[in-house]
Amino acid sequence: MKTFLAFLMALFIILTFMGEKTEAKFISETKFMMDTTVSITVDGSHQDIQKAFSAIEKINFLMNDYIPSTEISVLNRKGTNKLSCDTRQVILKAIHFSKITRGAFDITVGPLVRLWQRMGREKRLPTSNELNRALSLVGYKNIKISGDTVKLLKKGMMLDLGGIAKGYAVDKAIEVLRERGVKNALVNAGGDMYCLGEGPSGKWRVGIQHPRNLRKIVGIISVANRGVATSGDYYRYHVINGKRFGHIINPATGWTVQDTPMSVTIIAPNATTADALATGVFVLGPVKGLELINSLPKVEGMIISKGMKIVTSSGWGKYEVKRFY
Ligand code: ADP
Ligand code: MG
Repeated sequence: MKTFLAFLMALFIILTFMGEKTEAKFISETKFMMDTTVSITVDGSHQDIQKAFSAIEKINFLMNDYIPSTEISVLNRKGTNKLSCDTRQVILKAIHFSKITRGAFDITVGPLVRLWQRMGREKRLPTSNELNRALSLVGYKNIKISGDTVKLLKKGMMLDLGGIAKGYAVDKAIEVLRERGVKNALVNAGGDMYCLGEGPSGKWRVGIQHPRNLRKIVGIISVANRGVATSGDYYRYHVINGKRFGHIINPATGWTVQDTPMSVTIIAPNATTADALATGVFVLGPVKGLELINSLPKVEGMIISKGMKIVTSSGWGKYEVKRFY
């Protein structure tokens, strides 16, 4: 599965080199990090790439809730913890996205994420008791931040930064590259990416994957200095009673989002925004999701729903260079 994933991610990068005509000063390296494949391409040096990978690693060791020693894991166990500036920043940004998505994006989904993972292992659906118990612990308004201390007001609450931390890590890597004088780079953490400057032949080109036929792409966009993120139901899911349950959860119902949409791609000024909004819009669905995207300045998006029904935001056309569906 992981090799397959790596192959698919490699495909993304190959795409970005499409149409290459000049001698490439670009170098590219790939690592398995943050539970996904991270690729960094720079018009720069191996050293630049290493520093950018270190920035991502640092974020992972703060915010990964599957590593018991991270400060987010300690917070989840103890209900309170002093947190680094980075983690507090991410939590504050997450709360902002909760507000603008009216709770569709909510990092307090931790107990529901854990419940659905257990259901995947036990191959059954949750009982209403199990669902309601986890659901009662969800609600971003119960996160309290005072100074550098973060407190979870309900016992058993758990934060899950999986819908935003990769975007933030990408932005951090880009920040490091910029500080080192790199002008052109692409950092891609499993579909959450930032395109800095230009690629080998003009603006960076990004292929949008077909959500059901992973060898195909739906279209190509061309971007410079933008974050791009896709949330899909096709990489991470559980199969229960022959049915696919995705990894994105509706915090209002406790259920995973089923079938519609199949994928959401967001273009935004940074990768953190693109990552969080892709997840939030996935929960909101094509109608409310599109409404939200259209109401936000400098944010564009494409939502692919069941039956390959595709909708795009009002300014999407500025970025699109090809469409196959
Ligand atoms: P991926 O991790 O595949 O890039 P996303 O960015 O959409 O996909 O993040 C999905 C992850 O976000 C889930 O695995 C889970 O950890 C977390 N999550 C699930 N539902 C929500 C939600 N409604 N709001 C915020 N985070 C969520
Ligand atoms: Mg996301």
